[in-house]
Amino acid sequence: MDRWSKGRVILVGDAGYSTGVSGRGTTLAFIGAYILAGEIGRHQDHTKAFIQYETLMRPYVTAAQEMTPGSIRLFMPKTRTAIALRNTLLSFAARPAVAGLIKRLTESKAAEKVTLPDYETTLVQQ
Ligand SMILES: Cc1cc2nc3c(=O)[nH]c(=O)nc-3n(C[C@H](O)[C@H](O)[C@H](O)COP(=O)(O)OP(=O)(O)OC[C@H]3O[C@@H](n4cnc5c(N)ncnc54)[C@H](O)[C@@H]3O)c2cc1C
Repeated sequence: MDRWSKGRVILVGDAGYSTGVSGRGTTLAFIGAYILAGEIGRHQDHTKAFIQYETLMRPYVTAAQEMTPGSIRLFMPKTRTAIALRNTLLSFAARPAVAGLIKRLTESKAAEKVTLPDYETTLVQQ
């Protein structure tokens, strides 16, 4: 979504920034809820809280939505042979070697670098 709020309505999680098959939708939904709650706690004015929520959250979402080239084709192949290969690979998904390969294909290094605000400390000090 280009914007996540209008008036007093604000979007969190998949409604605002679904990541498709990148496998980080739950993480984003939790982080979004954390930041939104923290910013509402910090600001008297919900408009300021919504702007700050989007300012903090947008770079994290953009980074998390980046897909490793080829990963969509790997997870949603088009031929019967490739589908069978994908299914075989996923049946071993819990094994360390395969889990490592899936992690390398889906992880976003940029997303891991985001530092979250410590609202508990900020709100207790207010
Ligand atoms: C097959 C699949 C695999 C996934 N795997 C992963 C994974 O490995 N890791 C990961 O991080 N993410 C994964 N995701 C994504 C993850 O599930 C979502 O990103 C996450 O659940 C988003 O949370 P949410 O609270 O925003 O939305 P949702 O979990 O979709 O919650 C929305 C809720 O609102 C309810 N609702 C809808 N309309 C209304 C209404 N009108 N009134 C009242 N209630 C309503 C729905 O019933 C639902 O309970 C996967 C998703 C799918 C489909």
